[in-house]
Amino acid sequence: KAPDLKMSIAEGMICVYRNPDEPIEARIKDLISRMTIKEKIGQMTQIDRSVATPSALKDLSIGSVLSGGGSKPFEKATSSDWADMVDGFQKAALESRLGIPIFYGVDAVHGNNTVYGATVFPHNVGLGATRDADLAQRIGVATALEVRASGVQYAFAPCIAVCKDPRWGRCYESFSEDTETVRKMASILIGLQGQPPEGHPKGYPFVAGRNNVMACAKHFVGDGGTNKGENEGDTVLSFDDLERIHVAPYLDCISQGVCTIMASYSTWNGRRLHSDHFLLTEILKDRLGFKGMVISDWEALDRLVNIYGLNYRDYVLSTINAGIDMVMVPFNYELFLEDLMYLVESGEIPMARIDDAVERILRVKFAAGLFEYPLSDRSLLDIVGCKLHRELAREAVRKSLVLLKNGKDPKKPFLPLERNAKRILVAGTHADDLGYQCGGWTATWAGTSGRITIGTTILDAIKEAVGSETEVVHEPNPTPDTFAGGDFSFAIVAVGEPPYVESGGDNSELTIPFNGAEVVSLVADRIPTLMILISGRPLVLEPWFLEKLDALVAAWLPGSEGRGITDVIFGDYEFQGRLPMTWFKRVEQLPLHAEENLEDPLFPFGFGLTSNTKVLQN
Ligand code: BGC
Repeated sequence: KAPDLKMSIAEGMICVYRNPDEPIEARIKDLISRMTIKEKIGQMTQIDRSVATPSALKDLSIGSVLSGGGSKPFEKATSSDWADMVDGFQKAALESRLGIPIFYGVDAVHGNNTVYGATVFPHNVGLGATRDADLAQRIGVATALEVRASGVQYAFAPCIAVCKDPRWGRCYESFSEDTETVRKMASILIGLQGQPPEGHPKGYPFVAGRNNVMACAKHFVGDGGTNKGENEGDTVLSFDDLERIHVAPYLDCISQGVCTIMASYSTWNGRRLHSDHFLLTEILKDRLGFKGMVISDWEALDRLVNIYGLNYRDYVLSTINAGIDMVMVPFNYELFLEDLMYLVESGEIPMARIDDAVERILRVKFAAGLFEYPLSDRSLLDIVGCKLHRELAREAVRKSLVLLKNGKDPKKPFLPLERNAKRILVAGTHADDLGYQCGGWTATWAGTSGRITIGTTILDAIKEAVGSETEVVHEPNPTPDTFAGGDFSFAIVAVGEPPYVESGGDNSELTIPFNGAEVVSLVADRIPTLMILISGRPLVLEPWFLEKLDALVAAWLPGSEGRGITDVIFGDYEFQGRLPMTWFKRVEQLPLHAEENLEDPLFPFGFGLTSNTKVLQN
């Protein structure tokens, strides 16, 4: 059984590291002095839940467990099921010789998206369209609560990539192509971890309390700047440009006490980030003063072996010496520990480097209060997917919508739509698909189609929004026959991208998938049509196609609250979203540079209309 803190005090057995009244640095020093090398390297190891046996946690002093991508205890597991699982791992860790708690990590990148019934917020690209830093912060607060409710203390978020090329499969995880917009929206971090008090030492990890989580700014650095947007590709830039464009958002996160930073799979001028001592140690830790922990990306060492050859041990050596503190191994931890031990014993990895890594890991654990509150707080369970959080997500959807066209004749706006129309058509692959609306990183790693969680589709929301006399005809894939049954007042057609994730989303064409353009054309040729595009990025819209539409709304990947869309298209709220990415005409115009203003864009960076057809200013 783990030593009970209060009992230990009572019995006068308390040691410095267990005493919350001692300064964190003193606690770290005390704990490190008690640790064996084996325990130290165990702390540097993060393993997947599927291999996290009680004995690994207890006997090897493993530092952390994670759910890679959408991995979950079982299908439709709720927060309470998650909390049981995480507490189980934690109890095993607390039984280790020194009782060092683990932290459990999940990819809560738009709400606690893997958990059934959690609120799913718009993906970052949609939040970027809101330009609303306060909103992002509130979403961070809500996400932290829903993550904590599942017993988890660590979110691999926010992604503060500056996406320069929408061909990148992770474009939607980026707030914007514009560094300043990313910096602004990175305020989501303050919501996740809490706001550090005045005078908080710069670069020092901070977590406000039990309702907050440790966050992870990722992926350091240049992940959004790779050649042709290739995932895990090469970012070719001078150091000055790298700093100005891609490092800048890290400055804000570091001064807000971000606990951890994840290294990028990508390379910078051909140099692998995971082995880059200059960027990870000299820049990030020494110059920028980051005192938290640097974590590797998933299976980063195995990937290096697969891509570049050499053997595993060489990569253990180069990554740890470059400044990675914790390795997301995540499966073959025996091999990792064996190689790391060998390298420490042979002196190839200096003991000082190991101590620095362990200090950083422990610093984050103490800062997050894990020694005091290692287990889940079940009183938070009611908050998961609660009304207040869904209202917040709905607000975010409303604010993220970008109106790109309103009326064939700009003097005759098409939106807002008439609520009491006689008969309307709702069409397209994305009109009634919650999974499509949420995109990747939802329910599963890559996301999927259907009722994957609790929420409202666009069709659900339309049915609620229209008058009781209005007939709503839903036809995902309309044909000419659809129009035989009588006149429609207008159509709402939702098409776009199916869910995708990471390299699976890399796309060099960026056309509307499936037969989206044909479906929209077929409808728009017959009746006035609003097209809603559900996508993680701008897609190619040919001029002849655009001409056919009466109105066009970019809704990004809005998440579980479809009502946010009807709130605006039916006129209860005004459009206020502005493009977080330049809307290019042809892929040949890529990459994008907000600061240089693309010549001849379809819609410029920052563009957005209101329904009375005013152009919003960026
Ligand atoms: C992604 C990270 C993610 C990690 C853990 C990796 O494949 O690049 O963004 O946090 O997996 O799931």
